[in-house]
Amino acid sequence: MAKQPMLKFVQIDRDMPAKRDAGKRREDFDEIYAEYADAKAKEQSSRCSQCGVPYCQSHCPLHNNIPDWLRLTAEGRLQEAYEVSQATNTFPEICGRICPQDRLCEGNCVIEQSGHGTVTIGAVEKYITDTAWENGWVQPISPAQERTESVGIIGGGPGGLAAADVLRRAGVQVTVYDRHDRAGGLLTYGIPGFKLEKDVVMRRNEQLEQGGVTFRLGCAVGEDISFEEIRARHDAVIIATGVYKSRDLAMPGSGLQGIEKAIDFLTVSNRKSFGDTVEDFESGKLNAQGKRVVVIGGGDTAMDCVRTSIRQGATSVKCLYRRDRANMPGSQREVANAEEEGVIFEWLSAPKGFAGDDAVTGVMVQKMRLGAPDASGRQSPEVIEGADYVEDADLVIKALGFEPEDLPTLWEQPELAVTRWGTIRAEFTTGETALDGVYAVGDIVRGASLVVWAIRDGRDCADAVLKRLNSGAAAIAAE
Ligand SMILES: Cc1cc2nc3c(=O)[nH]c(=O)nc-3n(C[C@H](O)[C@H](O)[C@H](O)COP(=O)(O)OP(=O)(O)OC[C@H]3O[C@@H](n4cnc5c(N)ncnc54)[C@H](O)[C@@H]3O)c2cc1C
Ligand code: SF4
Repeated sequence: MAKQPMLKFVQIDRDMPAKRDAGKRREDFDEIYAEYADAKAKEQSSRCSQCGVPYCQSHCPLHNNIPDWLRLTAEGRLQEAYEVSQATNTFPEICGRICPQDRLCEGNCVIEQSGHGTVTIGAVEKYITDTAWENGWVQPISPAQERTESVGIIGGGPGGLAAADVLRRAGVQVTVYDRHDRAGGLLTYGIPGFKLEKDVVMRRNEQLEQGGVTFRLGCAVGEDISFEEIRARHDAVIIATGVYKSRDLAMPGSGLQGIEKAIDFLTVSNRKSFGDTVEDFESGKLNAQGKRVVVIGGGDTAMDCVRTSIRQGATSVKCLYRRDRANMPGSQREVANAEEEGVIFEWLSAPKGFAGDDAVTGVMVQKMRLGAPDASGRQSPEVIEGADYVEDADLVIKALGFEPEDLPTLWEQPELAVTRWGTIRAEFTTGETALDGVYAVGDIVRGASLVVWAIRDGRDCADAVLKRLNSGAAAIAAE
């Protein structure tokens, strides 16, 4: 087993002037923390049994070479661990922070399966790449040779950016178009900063920009520029627009003020964390401070809304979900975190309308029980008659999931084939769509999914685009 450094306790000099003292304490804290994190990463990495049947690796969507970078970390060879880690993952420090590891790598760790607690793979992955950034090992992309072909990527979320990274490394000219003013997609404006710090995302955007990726931000395709124009400008196009149409509730009172969409609430909150002035926050419209907040939904977006509301200073935060705890789609870890922070969960509770004149004052709730399983085997919720009540609320946040926008209509591309769910129909490993030279990746293909899957799609699709460019197919199509 690797030798572990001892934690060091530092004597604080009480005579120091207050400011210097605070600075020194900070430095001491950083030093102790760095040593602690290092010791912890080595301790965890050395717990890997190098079992030879790496289920962790096969259950990671990127097939990260986990046992190898754990071994290198345990041996203190962090730069090599970083090289191995970044060879298969474009944003390891992001995945390390926000992958649902209990369902992926860690849930399938042999040590976890044998009842001894998983190796904390995500935390080690985060540590390796954070250390790489601190030590300057993460460098801007510098292609060995520039190519003349260009690729347009619509959407600067993890799917689009992962594709941009691979293509740029191969010397291709890459332009990313995004309707937001900052790239990153849901990494920037969806996932809250307490789960994923914004500077961690922004330094990746900067790295891509420094490496020659062109960003056209504040540019909504279909409004500011047509899809046809983008197609004409580039040798290939990748659609990576995600899914943003919020599922809604059509019931009495649903038009009252104070009933808001989760994505609007989270976007505004994230903008505030960048220091932006946001009218809807200042006016109180999308600000939970001093309010009784009710969040409707049981997925991870609902968990992000309840936890954000707590941080904004809501007086109470309740979460309504129509099934029970065991049947909720969100992660149990997130529920436990929310409960610890003071969120109250009302299980088996569904809205049937909203009370209030102009502004919402409450949610009319009907109590449910779980009935017979449906075709998928999942128990359907049934109403318990006579058990309705009103849940007081000043702000109601609807977190009921997302659907794709109707891109063929919005972009006047009837030939762009979609599935019955409205997601773009694309080849499984390449992302090829029904339009020649047009590819699609991430949530717009899979439906609402995970960051790690968007990265995987982006990388696979970029390989397919490179194959097309190398074959000369793009040039032939342009003739
Ligand atoms: C609140 C929330 C929390 C989440 N938490 C997690 C988590 O903890 N872990 C996890 O793995 N996953 C999480 N997810 C899911 C994850 O964020 C997505 O699966 C992932 O971001 C999808 O990546 P993408 O690149 O396909 O799309 P997105 O990240 O959605 O990026 C799409 C980009 O396309 C741009 N765009 C859309 N339409 C246009 C247009 N017409 N013109 C120009 N630009 C356009 C958008 O502005 C956006 O920047 C969460 C999702 C939400 C909503
Ligand atoms: S990318 Fe996600 S699933 Fe893969 S090793 Fe990292 S944390 Fe685990």
